[in-house]
Amino acid sequence: MENKAALQDAFGRGHDYLRISISEHCNLRCTYCMPEDGIHLTPKPQLMTADEILQIAETFVQLGVKKIRVTGGEPLVRKDAKDILLRLGKLGVNLTITTNGILVPNFIDTFKAAGIKTVNISIDSLDKAKFNRITRRDYFEAVFENINLLLGEGFQVKLNVVLMKHFNDNEILDFIALTEFKKVQVRFIEFMPFNGNDWDKSKLVTYAEILHQMETEFAVNEIQRLEDAPNDTAKNFKIASYLGSFAIISSVTNPFCSTCNRIRLTADGKLKNCLFSNSETPLLETLRRGESILPLIQQNLRSKKPVRGGMEDDAQFQNPELFSQNRSMIAIGG
Ligand code: SAM
Ligand code: SF4
Repeated sequence: MENKAALQDAFGRGHDYLRISISEHCNLRCTYCMPEDGIHLTPKPQLMTADEILQIAETFVQLGVKKIRVTGGEPLVRKDAKDILLRLGKLGVNLTITTNGILVPNFIDTFKAAGIKTVNISIDSLDKAKFNRITRRDYFEAVFENINLLLGEGFQVKLNVVLMKHFNDNEILDFIALTEFKKVQVRFIEFMPFNGNDWDKSKLVTYAEILHQMETEFAVNEIQRLEDAPNDTAKNFKIASYLGSFAIISSVTNPFCSTCNRIRLTADGKLKNCLFSNSETPLLETLRRGESILPLIQQNLRSKKPVRGGMEDDAQFQNPELFSQNRSMIAIGG
């Protein structure tokens, strides 16, 4: 039975959005996500099985979760990804997925059968050579074709673009131009610090800089500020005559912690109440003993810090000693 208070933290924030990582593996090696020398992969017996993912997801739905995003690593490389999506699709939630898009053609029917309406695809450059450099693999055409495939099949498509100085900050207007004839939402994401991703503040392209570039190209009356959905981490915009839209996700320069409704489950069954938190609550052992995971979930939420995993000021947030204690993004589930 739904119990709204069950997923509240100490600051009165309710949590109705669960992000589940179903794989630590990936067929790309994006430099900002996967450390150059890879990550220590969790042995398979310590990863959640499909049944365990479903059991945990069902518990969260009973507690009031309304939206589930499947992510990873790359979720679609997992062998039983279809089974997991179809089963999650029966929980009656808004089911979405974030993928690098490479394996999308094998999943169109599954997405439809699971009731997925929106697909987030990561693409950080529209230039093949640069795309290959950042992903350390050669899949640009496949990803681009699969974006068109999804649009043709009637899905809403959101494009995740992590902006990095001197890498793709000169493509902001190209990505906005893509929205002229494609009904996509481009999401510019500020580069965030995680273990092993060589982050430093000078690589950040801020909200203010993106706005500035926009204003050099478009007249003020052409730029429409759209209404943001409740709990939306993005500030949404549109060029008046264009089909698509774009958004800025400024987790670093304008964190959106006060309205955070998200909780994350890692592929090895640990609960993370914040992307930036380095404390995790393991659920699997308790689940495997047949005991209730509810007290663990509530304990985890009660310990959620008000801002960015407890890194309240910029100095703390930018301190490599602190952000290196967190997992790499690939092992968290973005
Ligand atoms: N493999 C899938 C993909 O690439 O879309 C899903 C997992 S990926 C970790 C989820 C999202 O996290 C991607 O859009 C990726 O661009 C984003 N991401 C990874 N590392 C990041 C970082 N350091 N800063 C900002 N976004 C990051
Ligand atoms: Fe893989 Fe996605 Fe990370 Fe790139 S961002 S390495 S595609 S998990």
